[in-house]
Amino acid sequence: MTTVLAVANQKGGVAKTTTVASLAAALAGLGQRVLVVDLDPQGCLTFSLGHNPDRLERSVHDVLVGAAEAKEVLLDTDEGFTLLPATIDLAGAEALLLMRPGREFTLRRALAPLLDSFDVVVIDCPPSLGVLTLNGLTAAQSVLVPLQCETLAHRGVGQLLRTVAEVKQITNPDLELLGALPTLYDARTTHSRDVLADVADRYDMPVLAPPIPRTVRFAEASASGASVLAGRKNKGAEAYRELAENLLAHWRDGKELTTFTS
Ligand code: ADP
Ligand code: MG
Repeated sequence: MTTVLAVANQKGGVAKTTTVASLAAALAGLGQRVLVVDLDPQGCLTFSLGHNPDRLERSVHDVLVGAAEAKEVLLDTDEGFTLLPATIDLAGAEALLLMRPGREFTLRRALAPLLDSFDVVVIDCPPSLGVLTLNGLTAAQSVLVPLQCETLAHRGVGQLLRTVAEVKQITNPDLELLGALPTLYDARTTHSRDVLADVADRYDMPVLAPPIPRTVRFAEASASGASVLAGRKNKGAEAYRELAENLLAHWRDGKELTTFTS
């Protein structure tokens, strides 16, 4: 069965896009057939996977407004997985979708015919809690919340968790909140650890392990167009590989995810 994972946090710069690309590459490396969906009008995921959003004729926008089938818009990447790309047009989809009945289900319906072709679908949500993120959460079975380990970085998490709870009540009862994924983690400071313990406590939400360390390799990779998991001793890549293994064991065998606090 295909697993659809949404990566969501309305805060920008918490490594959602990096997590989607890296996790997808790691899952593909484990033999999974992976599709990533760029739901951010900024198209950062699309760009980081070697496609210029400004030059694409069709994108997930056309799919959401019913002008194209998802399978007609898919692109290959050099990372061994498939991309449903975004362009800036997607900024307008928000307004168009708002006027439609069942608007939260648009992506879910569009992806349904593709599910047989993929083992895992990973959705990169935009930095807002608008109708696009609601579409991502409604299409997903699982949601992962990347969280930067800094004081105040988790303001807004309460609001996101309320949105997840509402989606569960109204459009997607089976949605599972996997937990927070600590990103941009600095193991040398106790500060990061304190923030995570506080998050686990305050929101009663699992904080997953391993945390993703802050490493300059990620910025280098996106700038050079090199593979997202490139670099032999890239600690970030290793962490994403371990996370991918844990997620697969969880989805396949129901194994509990490793948490930071346990
Ligand atoms: P979001 O999608 O949540 O806005 P991004 O994935 O675009 O966040 O990441 C924001 C910035 O942080 C990018 O410049 C990215 O290269 C950088 N970044 C992400 N993860 C790491 C990391 N583990 N170490 C260093 N830089 C990172
Ligand atoms: Mg992003």
